[in-house]
Amino acid sequence: MTTGTVQPVLAIHGGCGAIPKDELTPDFNRAARDALHRALQAGFAVLTAGGPASDAVTEAVAVMEDDPVFNAGYGAALNRAGHHELDSALMDGQSGMAGAVAGARRIRHPVRAARALAEVADPLLLVGDAADEWAARHGLEVVDNTFFTTPSRREALERMLEREREGTLSAAPERDKHGTVGAAALDRHGHLAAATSTGGYTAKPAGRVGDSPIIGAGTWADDRTCALSGTGKGELFIRRSLGHEIHARMLYQGASLTQAAGAMIQEMTDLGGGAGLCAVDRHGNVALPYNTEGMYRGWITAQGVHVAIHEN
Ligand code: ASP
Repeated sequence: MTTGTVQPVLAIHGGCGAIPKDELTPDFNRAARDALHRALQAGFAVLTAGGPASDAVTEAVAVMEDDPVFNAGYGAALNRAGHHELDSALMDGQSGMAGAVAGARRIRHPVRAARALAEVADPLLLVGDAADEWAARHGLEVVDNTFFTTPSRREALERMLEREREGTLSAAPERDKHGTVGAAALDRHGHLAAATSTGGYTAKPAGRVGDSPIIGAGTWADDRTCALSGTGKGELFIRRSLGHEIHARMLYQGASLTQAAGAMIQEMTDLGGGAGLCAVDRHGNVALPYNTEGMYRGWITAQGVHVAIHEN
């Protein structure tokens, strides 16, 4: 592989629905931090070998899809019918190409399907059975929908449905409402990419699609500005085109990544939605803002690796 001159950077999140600090057990804390570390190492290995940002974000997200701590892939949230419907997207900041799947039920690593779709101009976004079938035809691993189910996601669904019956849905904890994984990277050649994967929120209606697979909402990358992946109330991200809005503020207003991302998270707060994101700009600056109690997150450069869950 060729070596570029840029210092590579990778930032990730594991969702803004982090367990409250006082409920975090030592075991869960260790498991979450360990998973974040493994995701960062997997993605950074691609970058240090001179590989493209698109591959780095794919590998980082795939590690988190395999980990039941996070709401994506294995261990994803269940919809109200008791099924998993998985959303994912990837965007390449150099080519402007993007790929996405929504409501996929059988793709073991939805991010790998998004990555593969980003290689073709059309289709960009496939839904449901068509996404599953396309993935299988392109040699990706497909599994039974029940593969993704864990006991803790079943319990979370039961808790949510119980809250609905009681009329206490709005008091549900963030961790039952939110979860997503994502990554943003700058590679040695100065190119950016972002990827996102999610099960959506617990007890979502069948067929509901969130922001993660919507290019310009929960996933965005453009070499002129930044790459980012969002987590939080997807409907609000879509209504505000959050990802593209951050890019536009940087490109047309000259805002910094921190300013643009911070302003958009503030807008989500004003609209009453939990939200967070991981982002890297074209200079390698990292932003990881969120407005909930905590967000699983981390970033890595040649100088070191950092992971966090709550405020440090
Ligand atoms: N953004 C995701 C969605 O709306 C869920 C989340 O990150 O909490 O599907």
